[in-house]
Amino acid sequence: MIPVQFDYLAPATVEEALSALAQHGDDAKIMAGGQSLLPVLRMRLNAPEMVIDLGKIESLRGIRDDGDAIVIGAMTPHVEVGSNDLVAEHAGLIAKAMEHLADAQIRHRGTFGGALAHADPAGDLGAPTLALGAQFVIAGSGGSRTVEADDFFVDLFETAIGEDEILTEVRIPKHTGWGSHYEKFVRVAHQWPIVAVAAAVRVDGGTIAEARVGLTNMGSTPLRARSVEEALAGQPATADGVRAAAEKAADGTNPPSDLNGDADYRRHLAGVLTRRAVLAAAGA
Ligand SMILES: Cc1cc2nc3c(=O)[nH]c(=O)nc-3n(C[C@H](O)[C@H](O)[C@H](O)COP(=O)(O)OP(=O)(O)OC[C@H]3O[C@@H](n4cnc5c(N)ncnc54)[C@H](O)[C@@H]3O)c2cc1C
Repeated sequence: MIPVQFDYLAPATVEEALSALAQHGDDAKIMAGGQSLLPVLRMRLNAPEMVIDLGKIESLRGIRDDGDAIVIGAMTPHVEVGSNDLVAEHAGLIAKAMEHLADAQIRHRGTFGGALAHADPAGDLGAPTLALGAQFVIAGSGGSRTVEADDFFVDLFETAIGEDEILTEVRIPKHTGWGSHYEKFVRVAHQWPIVAVAAAVRVDGGTIAEARVGLTNMGSTPLRARSVEEALAGQPATADGVRAAAEKAADGTNPPSDLNGDADYRRHLAGVLTRRAVLAAAGA
């Protein structure tokens, strides 16, 4: 289908984009890489009168070291995030998830911020950012505010970004020296996950000192598997040490049922994938 006709603006600064958003209100829609927005417009699930393309705003693109955090600009394409040395060294879980995200074409056009703002519960980046305790920097007419990952994902396709606001960057606290792994279950390559598990683990002398685990597609938002994290602390980094903790993966989740699998199947998968992800992250 062809989208409903809309006007198009490509501002050069965040300030210009914010003022266009303020001017057009509900009738405007932000575009990043367009990989999710354009299909939505083509299916006429949304019909904005104005599309504000962030593609020309250079300040929104790039990755930098900011002391105890890595900062990823919202408009940084997936491919740049996935191949960046700082990300690999200090936020390896993000790099691991990128290896599984869509195909090369989507990874060149799609952006880190666009995928997170889209907030698809099957998206591959929500669980890793949640597990690593990312902070989301959101700009509005009154200045910038920072939202913790635990408060960013509100519901299905809904985040803490207001209608008159723009996600500008994501701060990932450094997890240098942590092991990490993203275990994604799909039926065919380059698909959205049926379930996926993001695990970051700090092992000290053969014992799991700390673990952070995020779940993809186990509810209307990405979720932290907190009972798994608590049960893993102090366990030996071995198959026996991890098995019982991983069985708690589905605690407190509300997975969907669809043609790929029902909720019970997803609960089962969550346990299996958590065990695999944690063991791989722990190097066991
Ligand atoms: C065929 C296909 C397969 C895919 N497979 C996967 C997959 O396996 N795993 C996965 O995780 N993803 C997958 N994706 C999605 C991909 O990750 C997209 O990059 C992502 O969903 C949207 O990123 P984008 O930059 O294109 O954003 P857009 O499509 O431009 O925007 C998406 C939404 O976010 C809003 N938005 C974007 N940027 C901002 C901002 N800075 N501030 C406020 N709001 C903003 C837009 O208004 C829009 O509502 C796939 C997409 C396609 C088309």
